[in-house]
Amino acid sequence: MTLRSRDMIERLISFDTTSRLSNLALVEFVEDYLRGYGIAPKRIYNDDKTKANLLATIGPDVEGGVVLSGHTDVVPVDDQDWTSDPFIVDEREDKLFGRGTADMKSFVAIALAHVPDMVAADLKRPIHLAFSYDEEVGCIGVGSMIAHMSAHLPRPRAVIVGEPTSMRVINAHKGIRSFMTEVTGLEAHSSQQQLGVNAIVIATKLITFLSDIFEEMKERGDPSGRFEPPHTTVQIGTIHGGTAINIIPHHCSFGWEYRSLPSQDADEIYHRFLDYAGELEAHMQKMSPQCRIVTRQRALAPGLKVDEGSEAETLALALAEQNETHAVSYGTEAGLFQQAEMPTVICGPGDIAQAHRPDEFIELSQVAACERFVQRLIEVLGR
Ligand SMILES: [Zn+2]
Repeated sequence: MTLRSRDMIERLISFDTTSRLSNLALVEFVEDYLRGYGIAPKRIYNDDKTKANLLATIGPDVEGGVVLSGHTDVVPVDDQDWTSDPFIVDEREDKLFGRGTADMKSFVAIALAHVPDMVAADLKRPIHLAFSYDEEVGCIGVGSMIAHMSAHLPRPRAVIVGEPTSMRVINAHKGIRSFMTEVTGLEAHSSQQQLGVNAIVIATKLITFLSDIFEEMKERGDPSGRFEPPHTTVQIGTIHGGTAINIIPHHCSFGWEYRSLPSQDADEIYHRFLDYAGELEAHMQKMSPQCRIVTRQRALAPGLKVDEGSEAETLALALAEQNETHAVSYGTEAGLFQQAEMPTVICGPGDIAQAHRPDEFIELSQVAACERFVQRLIEVLGR
């Protein structure tokens, strides 16, 4: 591992970019660094200008470049028991500890640490750095950057999303949709059931409907045989409702998600749920027109579909010196790049098992493996 990478990892970890906070201090630091090498980075802000994506091109303004993509935000450390300060890199037993070391500031840092080499290499095809915000809260930030790239960037040949894969090449993952459903019933004294509509009872019907769909998905299984668990999953994560035992509750809300196999119609479960909710709502409204079932989407990350033999896959396998691809069950921004017709794979340093945990770490050997990956990329694009 070069000192440059180590230094850059330390710098990036020191910015607390928990998704609820601004990432602009980190963005500004990276911009200053890139400008020092004559590169002109582009900020793509969120609506209230508290966060930004950062896009930069090193090399000529031509097609056939490679995008190195990463997110700048990290998950919270609240209520986690850390041995050392999560925002100061601590080295113990050939590992670097800190929030974001695995997920995924080390990849971003290693790419940045090689900018001097990229500039010196006189690249024939460009390297694009694409760093997003708000990945951890549902891949919210990257969309505007992808739109900008589609409109303004000469077509890249490949996007490499550097989420932690232990430097294995991932060419498929599940898609994620998450929702909040609010049921509004009609409040009444519990002795007067004929005057009320019980929002909790309605919510339990909806939840039972979802858990029945989950059972059906398990039976449907995974025709590709590549996913663990081998089926689409459905999960209810939160529920709140009711006021007192002797009041018919007029409110109940619950949060839920599903993670569908990339081969499945991503809207199927949502549409089936809405149909059923519509039937229940019509029934409730016979009691009172104020009864409602409202479902709002919280997060959407499309699955990454296998694109066998794509340029991204071939390139990443060569750079990582691997000969097989893998599938994972967690979601990333990769599916969004693929939807914009950019060949995309995931390959990055660190173990996903370390992500989001207290005492998150990356092994120094993973940092070194990612450095070799980037160095080979520079060689390939310099030819
Ligand atoms: Zn991540």
